[in-house]
Amino acid sequence: MAIFTNKSNRRKFIQNFAGTAGAIATIGMFQPLSTHAKNKSLNLALLSDTHIPEDVGNNYRGFYPYENLKTAAEQVAKSGLEGAVITGDLARLTGEPGDYSNLKLLLQPVTEKMPIAMALGNHDKREHFLTAFTTTTGQRQALKNKYVVVVDHTEIQLIVLDSMMTTNFTPGFLGKIQREWLTTHLESNKDKTILIFFHHSMGDSDNDLLDVDRLFKIIGPHRQVKAIFYGHSHVYNYDTREDIHLINLPALGYNFNDNEPIGWVEASFNKKGGEFTLHAIGGNKAEDGMKKELIWRS
Ligand SMILES: [Zn+2]
Repeated sequence: MAIFTNKSNRRKFIQNFAGTAGAIATIGMFQPLSTHAKNKSLNLALLSDTHIPEDVGNNYRGFYPYENLKTAAEQVAKSGLEGAVITGDLARLTGEPGDYSNLKLLLQPVTEKMPIAMALGNHDKREHFLTAFTTTTGQRQALKNKYVVVVDHTEIQLIVLDSMMTTNFTPGFLGKIQREWLTTHLESNKDKTILIFFHHSMGDSDNDLLDVDRLFKIIGPHRQVKAIFYGHSHVYNYDTREDIHLINLPALGYNFNDNEPIGWVEASFNKKGGEFTLHAIGGNKAEDGMKKELIWRS
């Protein structure tokens, strides 16, 4: 395990090397940009459902996920943001090693500039992901068969959970061990502003997060939890549950419906709330550039 500090630009960050799968990384964080340090905001690119294939020409409904990430990665790399998060379905369908090598290649312009935290979706394969991405942004938690990461930035803390059950099986599940870990973690992190990230949607269908009610029993009373960011549905939407904001990030790979944008979201977080700007690169681009402001529950 080694700690690496990128001095090549002013977005200095610490990135951790997890060594082999299962090893635990030490503390890593998104360092504030000097220009933003005064108001302690955290400025991130939020992506979801990249669905990167091994075959670069693979397409669905006329969308080319490989080309879409190439475009978005160029935009994110130039954005001056401090970091990025991808909420799963990184790979096209079955999490093949070739999918992840393409993902890694496409993300290179971004990883040269900023740390990226990633969650796993139902089209990912944990072992193949961990073989391709041996470095972890943030602190990897010691959970068996789950990839859970905590990233700190002054008072803001990102928790990246693992809702993946089995590769290419649609529903999601956190499971008892992860829920117990979250309970303990929130008890000892009461002073933070906590934002949670995972892949699955939180409806009541058989293809959503199956233990969502048990998740809300845990996070509902912990007022430091302000928002959940997720993907899965390939829909861009804002909702709330128990005053916790639920932000459904747009898919980058392809949409299932012509009304939905293809793209990513630029987010600026602080202790009080967040501001979000849609960067639509395909699909329905009518709301490209549209801003949304959210105030956190107190
Ligand atoms: Zn997806």
